[in-house]
Amino acid sequence: MTHQSIATIAAQAGNHLDDKKAVALPLYFSSNYRHDSLAEAKNFDPHQGYTYSRIATPNRRALEETMAKLEGGTAGFAVSSGMAAIQLALSILKTGDQVISLDDLYGGDFRYFRYLHAHAGIGFDQWNGKHLDDLIAKLTPHTKIIWLETPSNPMMKELDIAQVAAAVHQQNPHILIMVDNTFYTPVYQRPLTVGADVVVHSATKYLSGHNDLLGGILVCKDQQLAEKYFNYYITTGDTLDSFDSWLLLRSLKTLTVRVKQHTKNAQAVVKYLQADPRIAQILYPGKGGMISFYVKHDQDVAKLLDNVKLITFAESLGGIESLITIPYYQTHADVDIDQRHRLGITPQLLRLSVGLEDAKDLIADLKQALDQ
Ligand SMILES: *Cc1c(COP(=O)(O)O)cnc(C)c1O
Repeated sequence: MTHQSIATIAAQAGNHLDDKKAVALPLYFSSNYRHDSLAEAKNFDPHQGYTYSRIATPNRRALEETMAKLEGGTAGFAVSSGMAAIQLALSILKTGDQVISLDDLYGGDFRYFRYLHAHAGIGFDQWNGKHLDDLIAKLTPHTKIIWLETPSNPMMKELDIAQVAAAVHQQNPHILIMVDNTFYTPVYQRPLTVGADVVVHSATKYLSGHNDLLGGILVCKDQQLAEKYFNYYITTGDTLDSFDSWLLLRSLKTLTVRVKQHTKNAQAVVKYLQADPRIAQILYPGKGGMISFYVKHDQDVAKLLDNVKLITFAESLGGIESLITIPYYQTHADVDIDQRHRLGITPQLLRLSVGLEDAKDLIADLKQALDQ
């Protein structure tokens, strides 16, 4: 039922699945499942039944099916972290293949790209996201994947996924467009419905939304690609366990209301930051809960980070609790220093994940910290 709205799919996550007719899908703790007969074991379909929990669990499957629907894809994969989802996405590469990525990405991506370059002979190139012609000029016969994030982390670069996908696919329909949709979630953006081939999430962020689990999601459209991913993850075994799958499915039920309220709160905080003379510049794409901003004077960076009381100085994002980080020293410390400066990731840039507290209290907290 792809015509259902995101809110409906999310609210109904896991419903009508339990054979004992439980409304909320129970948590299945079992590493294995019995066979009724030799005939059943011989005809076993790993996409339907259950044998061993690395292959499938009822909780993980419910989560994966829900995510596939939310993203408008055919198959979903739930793994142990966002980085594991990125590893799964790139698992189809062979030595000699090339990936072109946006130049502003989650810091761990670059670390993994460097690893793949050194150990597997994969080529990497970067695009600044400005002119499509520049991206097209970078394509080579070895280009297999275009890797995008929008809005990007932490510079909030925005891309038109449909335009990028159309331009690249016109050159070569076999190049896969992959999008990290962690920041916007399917509530604001469904890359697969506008031409992308693969979507990944750090489910640790908005999808789970409560700062209490680590998880990753991959959703794709193509059946053959889905089969490759399935075989890879049941073999390598970084699949998400039942308990975290259960928690994550539970979180998805409130995804739409949470994300919309994150936006309302972030918009109110942006208004305050715009009016505060101690803030030099704000990067906010207009929706979502993530704000990056430059503080004018170095001493105010320390004032903010040392004195926030309600807001927590911690990495990560997308949860109910507001968090503030300094990407230069934290999330993006592994990005080459020249690249950090070229992108504008300076020691004056802070990133705020606006939570679901009352916006008035968040603003008061920022103000009292700066006033110290
Ligand atoms: C956090 C994050 C990741 C990595 O996810 P983990 O769950 O921490 O492994 C990847 N992409 C983006 C955009 C992120 O914010």
